[in-house]
Amino acid sequence: MDKPKQFIDKLEETSHLAKEEWIALIENRNETVAEYLFEKARKWQHKFYGNHVYTRGLIEFSNYCKNDCYYCGIRRSNQNADRYRLTSEQILECCQLGYGLGFRTFVLQGGEDGWFAQERLEEIVHAIRERYPDCAITLSLGERSKESYRRLFEAGADRYLLRHETADEEHYRQLHPPELSAVQRKQCLWDLKEIGYQTGTGFMVGSPGQTAVQLAEDLMFIRRLEPHMVGIGPFVPHHDTPFAAEKGGTVELTLFLIGLLRIMLPKLLLPATTALGTIDARGRERGILAGANVVMPNLSPTDVRKKYELYDNKICTGDEAAECRTCLSRRMEGIGYQLVVDRGDFCQ
Ligand code: SAH
Repeated sequence: MDKPKQFIDKLEETSHLAKEEWIALIENRNETVAEYLFEKARKWQHKFYGNHVYTRGLIEFSNYCKNDCYYCGIRRSNQNADRYRLTSEQILECCQLGYGLGFRTFVLQGGEDGWFAQERLEEIVHAIRERYPDCAITLSLGERSKESYRRLFEAGADRYLLRHETADEEHYRQLHPPELSAVQRKQCLWDLKEIGYQTGTGFMVGSPGQTAVQLAEDLMFIRRLEPHMVGIGPFVPHHDTPFAAEKGGTVELTLFLIGLLRIMLPKLLLPATTALGTIDARGRERGILAGANVVMPNLSPTDVRKKYELYDNKICTGDEAAECRTCLSRRMEGIGYQLVVDRGDFCQ
């Protein structure tokens, strides 16, 4: 019998694999196994979400960051990053534009920028909540205290995205400076869940030092956390970081992991990420066909798009928000899916 397929069947039935099984499955994957996996993944995707693809309007409101993650283009040591922050008015204009285009979720993402102090953030969240009571507000602002997360939740935020990046302590230290730790990052995720956020975690695929062992730990951590969303995308080197010369992650492995996530936790909200679309012209379509059900086009003003450069060659930095939505809608129709006007909540 074909071992990898047996592991996939077991994962589908029990939602669990032992660490050695995860490692063997990842290491022994091939095209036939992947096709077997994606077919099952699409079955679950259809069961809970049909052929609907949810959209999130991404507003990249600041590229100032106090952190110095070795992989990230907006790390504080990058002197070449052209820093910007949007005003509250600009953020609200992005929402207005997005609402008109059919977005019912706004994602506020940025570096860890102290200028956006607690009260200022609460005011922004509150303003969006008042104007758009039918929309979900997602925050992606990095690590904060539990109290801060709670107050933002009370101000009206519904969801929070914070990728754990890697579940393995040692590997985490290879990717981050000493002041950041995997323990702290994971604690934030438990806090967010406890407060009541729809919580998203995730990791980069093919980050330097990552092997099947780390991926097994990532999947096992996600199984324990039971988040509502998991964002994974290939690591893409950025020219002004310590990882400039490292190899990037592959489309093939990213798709395989999307498929595994879909059958491990079948109701997950799984984006086909911009990074995936960056390394493959049909990356997002292929992500959906591997089991993803969310896309996150950019709503940031065009003049700042290029500045929020986490990695090289990021796509869609020149397009207007409307073009992005139309383009994605066409791409999804091309593969038999439909971009919907919906908050796109986790299926209960
Ligand atoms: N400051 C926020 C937002 C981070 S940017 C936070 O800490 O959560 C969002 C995600 O982009 C990161 O979590 C990381 O996984 C991803 N990212 C950063 N640099 C990248 C790179 N070079 N290639 C691919 N993904 C990257």
